Amino acid sequence: MMLDLESVEQEKLIRQALSYGHKFVRYGKPADYIPELAKKDPSKLGVAVCDLNGNMMTAGDCDEQFTMQSIAKVMSLILAIEQNGFEYVFTKVGMEPTGDAFNSMVRLESLIKKKPFNPMINAGAIAVASCIRGSSLEERQRCCVEFARKLTGNPKLDVDYEVFRSEKETGHKNRAIINLMKANGIIDGDVEPHLDLYFTICSLSANCRDMAFFAAVLANNGVNPNTKEQLIPLRVVKLVRSLMVTCGMYDYSGEYAATVGMPSKSGVGGGIIAAPIGKCGIAAYGPALDEKGNSVGGLKIMEFLSEKMDLHMF
Ligand code: GLN
Repeated sequence: MMLDLESVEQEKLIRQALSYGHKFVRYGKPADYIPELAKKDPSKLGVAVCDLNGNMMTAGDCDEQFTMQSIAKVMSLILAIEQNGFEYVFTKVGMEPTGDAFNSMVRLESLIKKKPFNPMINAGAIAVASCIRGSSLEERQRCCVEFARKLTGNPKLDVDYEVFRSEKETGHKNRAIINLMKANGIIDGDVEPHLDLYFTICSLSANCRDMAFFAAVLANNGVNPNTKEQLIPLRVVKLVRSLMVTCGMYDYSGEYAATVGMPSKSGVGGGIIAAPIGKCGIAAYGPALDEKGNSVGGLKIMEFLSEKMDLHMF
């Protein structure tokens, strides 16, 4: 059944989810391998739920801006498929979960085909970013920002250039990953512009409302809840939701799929989106992360809402 956000009961549940999440934020800390992210206040926590008619219900720090980080990997995958077709993109990347950390590179060396495992780990997302077309880096960056604006319904959405700079200066591991993939024949052209595009995508700045809207588009089979425009083809939505279930929460994806049961994606900026199919879009933000890189408060909010709103897909 579709969620009805008019009800007082739903509003109460969202507020309860927030206070439940608050109890756990002290067990995490902001990502510090990207120096700019370490400055975030770990006590922040917000949640937004968007129903399939575009009604929004929020609680806590839902207007706080954060960078999408890995959540944007979902958007860049959709864009790369739109521009190049499904078959081409999956010559560069696979669809299998790894069970490894999001920034791991061990399997890139040991595989026979040497293709990154899936588009949700850094290696896979960098390979996908290399497929995004345009005559210059600037044009490709503009295209990604425009696409993110369309998918969030926010025409003002933009890049956080401080975070972009911080990632570019300290992204040595991502630089190693792309160079390894270049040596393996996965990456065409110069590595630096592709890496810059990847950092741009990760540095897209949004709040819980923007992200809940995007999640609602995914839950709504690719249809904009307000305008009813088909923004993403159904075949592509089904594919990305599947990859979110199997690979969306880093090396916690298996346990999360079993216990929470919603197609979800998290980012080290502290955001998590969930797209329970045919129900609603949910976004949580809390920069205090656990050791796998998932928002501790955000995880608890998703757990709570899945149970109390009966959103588990199985
Ligand atoms: N920009 C981050 C990185 O490349 C994204 C990782 C994430 O959110 N898990 O390390």
